[in-house]
Amino acid sequence: MTPHRTLYSHLPAIDKLLRDASFNALMHKFGHTQVVNTLREMLEIAREHIRTRETLPSWNDDWATQVQTRLESSQRSALLPVFNLTGTVLHTNLGRALQSEAAIEAVTQVMRHPITLEYDLHGAERGHRDKALASLLCELTGAEDACIVNNNAAAVLLMLAACANGEEVVVSRGELVEIGGAFRIPDVMRQAGCQLVEVGTTNRTHLKDYRQAAGENTALLMKVHTSNYQVAGFTKAVDEAELVALGNELNIPVVTDLGSGSLVDLSQWGLPEEPMPQQLIAAGVSLVSFSGDKLLGGPQAGIIVGKKELIARIQQHPLKRALRADKMTLAALEATLRLYQHPETLVERLPTLRLLTRNAADIAEQANRLLPAFQSKFGAQFTVQVEPCLSQIGSGSLPVDRLPSAALTFTPKDGRGTTLSSLVESLRDSSTPVIGRINDGRLWLDLRCLEDESAFMENLN
Ligand SMILES: *Cc1c(COP(=O)(O)O)cnc(C)c1O
Repeated sequence: MTPHRTLYSHLPAIDKLLRDASFNALMHKFGHTQVVNTLREMLEIAREHIRTRETLPSWNDDWATQVQTRLESSQRSALLPVFNLTGTVLHTNLGRALQSEAAIEAVTQVMRHPITLEYDLHGAERGHRDKALASLLCELTGAEDACIVNNNAAAVLLMLAACANGEEVVVSRGELVEIGGAFRIPDVMRQAGCQLVEVGTTNRTHLKDYRQAAGENTALLMKVHTSNYQVAGFTKAVDEAELVALGNELNIPVVTDLGSGSLVDLSQWGLPEEPMPQQLIAAGVSLVSFSGDKLLGGPQAGIIVGKKELIARIQQHPLKRALRADKMTLAALEATLRLYQHPETLVERLPTLRLLTRNAADIAEQANRLLPAFQSKFGAQFTVQVEPCLSQIGSGSLPVDRLPSAALTFTPKDGRGTTLSSLVESLRDSSTPVIGRINDGRLWLDLRCLEDESAFMENLN
């Protein structure tokens, strides 16, 4: 018998372990099935350990603690809260807009109780789920009607499928946008069964280009907001008002994929201007689509506002049923939109706007307040400083405009990339992971989105 063969006999039997008092609490908390499955996995690992290393695993004398550690870590949600210190406020990979307290409250209510989702309290008629929101959206944008779906990509698909299936849609070559992922205007056109008619060139498109392209078979003239890039220099685009004049003359509706869109004028807070759906409606655009979780600051949703008869066609299209929003989305969106009815308190109550409007001096002051704690914790290996930086709005909004901010920066004293990576990893492994950005051989923690300072400092310890 080789020496390590005897090691196998030191491994416990599962049924014996389960009779041990230390396992009672575990069974109560996680249930018999999970505990037994974990023990089986651990036995496999222990046997493998003996086979390859000829020793027992270090936890062989305390299986209960090991089971607990493993089960706790496997029960950690895949949707873990993090500190977003990337400097990108609407970070798609981190879930975009944070919801307002009003939206959170509204979602909780509709999760807990039956609600009048498609039920009209005052008539015998069956209500329709976008109804309450449609009247709010009409009030805020001046549109005649509205439709809500899962996201703006769905809104664009539905708009095209319902209004231009089997027909032509004229779009400028300067606006054949790829949003990221698989969302590209030409592909969406194909999926919606429309024929894309490209006009103009990458940098310049004139009204006469649209006029020449429009014909018998043209269902829509379409504008796509070039939200995630900018063409600069010798450029020309036709704005919505001009295109609407042509559309009226030819009796062809103009529709716009606005992407982000903002229901308020951001320049009043010194932020870069973003087109507003209400401006396009006022300019006579027939349908405007935009996202719920970009600058609007609400839940993931796609919103289409516009002319009554076109919205009616959209509402009746079979794809609407497939793309409709659920009650939680509708509740969060309604609560978010209600905040816009009271614009004086918007900055305070809408997290997206609150974070976007934080000024650099306040953020720098916060960074200086936190600096000593970071210097004492990381000062041996890193030079920790407060430095100015530029935040981004994110999600393709206003791509070239940056917001002045402040960051804690960590420069490895040994100049090594591996030292920096281990810091990034250890912050990512905190109980609430801290996500920053690496630039210029340093880690940057942009504090623009840090609101709960005490939770952040506690998490560090
Ligand atoms: C972001 C964006 C979309 C996609 O919106 P989602 O809500 O992310 O689906 C479509 N078009 C434009 C112009 C956008 O900026």
